[in-house]
Amino acid sequence: MIPNKITFGCLTKKGAAEVRERELPELKADELLVKQEACNICTTDYQQWQGLREHQGYPMAGGHECSGVVIAKGQEVGNAFETGDRVSILYDYCGICDNCKAGEITNCQNIEMFGKNYSDEYYGLFGFANYFIRKAKSFVKMSPDLPPEEAAFVEPLGSVLHNMKKLRIRPGKDTVVVIGAGTMGLLNAEVARAMGGRVIVSEMMDKKIDISKSMGFEVIDAKTENPVQRVMEFTNGQGADIVILAVGATAANNQALEMIKKRDAKISLFAAGYPAPQMTIDPNMIHYKKIELIGTFGSDLDDYNNAARMLNEKRVDVSKLVEEKIPLARIQEAFEKANPGNYRVSVILNAD
Ligand SMILES: [Zn+2]
Ligand SMILES: [Zn+2]
Repeated sequence: MIPNKITFGCLTKKGAAEVRERELPELKADELLVKQEACNICTTDYQQWQGLREHQGYPMAGGHECSGVVIAKGQEVGNAFETGDRVSILYDYCGICDNCKAGEITNCQNIEMFGKNYSDEYYGLFGFANYFIRKAKSFVKMSPDLPPEEAAFVEPLGSVLHNMKKLRIRPGKDTVVVIGAGTMGLLNAEVARAMGGRVIVSEMMDKKIDISKSMGFEVIDAKTENPVQRVMEFTNGQGADIVILAVGATAANNQALEMIKKRDAKISLFAAGYPAPQMTIDPNMIHYKKIELIGTFGSDLDDYNNAARMLNEKRVDVSKLVEEKIPLARIQEAFEKANPGNYRVSVILNAD
């Protein structure tokens, strides 16, 4: 049955997530109607709920890490998708501008990432909606065997694959230190290991230390051990080839600069922090040590497709990165729990 109304979660002001309703627009020829199943709360969503990303605007019908099942399709979609297909969403993109043509869809020149693309009133992608209509090109197919909250990892995993392309890990050779064992830290750690890196994880919270160990990583307990000293011990005094900063914190930035090897190291600034953290760096040091400081966020079309493939073929295990599942009706509680101490909180959108 095709619904005429949708129910969705939305941020109305700092600290307030509400459930609202609106009419479902008509399905156009190049679109899919999807019964959405799960949408995980990303740090981007959480920081706006905290009031740290007010520039993104309210009301924000956010959420972008989601999955669902196709229940109707427009005539032009052809056999690319069938009803019953499990799908995960990508950011919207025009497909026409130079960046889109190059596959860089998160840099689309025509469609703003969290803009008012579906409504005059609401910002955002309506990730937390029980039903939604989008362009068919904004979906990737997912395996029906994956739980919905795991299929929702396409977007974060895509951004990790994008980071990996920039890091150019040398299989069997590079030691990669990941600072911060949250969801994004451990996703980076899993992929870096799959690419042949030796991965050491540095973390302060006991719970995250335990999860990291259960996933088989070498772990530094940063609240009782000195991470710089431990990395030097792990590497016979050489230092790390690569450091991935998966927390936005001044202390972590400074540790990264101290734990890298003498020449040709790379530091990936994977996480943004609000307010912005500091990084004190001597330009001569960048010059003489030949350091690569790498900034990254978002993904290109290739990254999304490859992330879907890795999840579908179970080449990464994200099962431990889901903290809790909470129904849409309790979205405020879901946001309260989506704090940095926890892994992904998954909002369940069709809990009937
Ligand atoms: Zn995200
Ligand atoms: Zn574009």
